Amino acid sequence: MKKTAVFPGSFDPFTKGHEAVVKKGARLFDEIIIAVGVNESKVSFFNLEKRLNHIKALFADLPAIKVVTYNSLTVDLCKEQNADFILRGLRDTRDFEYEKSIAFLNEQLGGIETVFLLTELKYAPINSTIVREISKNNGDISHFVTLSEKLV
Ligand code: ADP
Repeated sequence: MKKTAVFPGSFDPFTKGHEAVVKKGARLFDEIIIAVGVNESKVSFFNLEKRLNHIKALFADLPAIKVVTYNSLTVDLCKEQNADFILRGLRDTRDFEYEKSIAFLNEQLGGIETVFLLTELKYAPINSTIVREISKNNGDISHFVTLSEKLV
């Protein structure tokens, strides 16, 4: 049976940390659906269209990686996409504590199993909030984001 995982997140922006998680996940799953959460009441920093094009460009040569947007419960998106798994990245114990509660909820809500993967060690300190701050102050985000020119 085809194994599909949804990798949900805000991805504002999609960093090298996220990229490493998807690449590792691609060794486990037949298909990974990167799901960019769109929240009407939350304004993103990077433009949605650019964020989507950026992620698509990153995985252009990997047909098993798809990119979608969603504004529903993650478990409902999983059902819609026939995905039995949610993929999430872990950087540290703080991520783990937070992710653990969400994972239990998603299992109860939709019977969806969450698979956690560590990012590459060198990307563990990267987080989207800091990348946004650097960008706001006209700093160079290319250390943290591959193909960052597609975002600005
Ligand atoms: P959310 O707003 O849902 O936390 P993010 O876009 O911040 O979405 O992150 C999506 C996923 O990527 C989460 O599982 C998060 O823990 C993980 N993640 C974020 N940054 C990194 C990183 N540098 N390395 C590995 N995983 C990361």
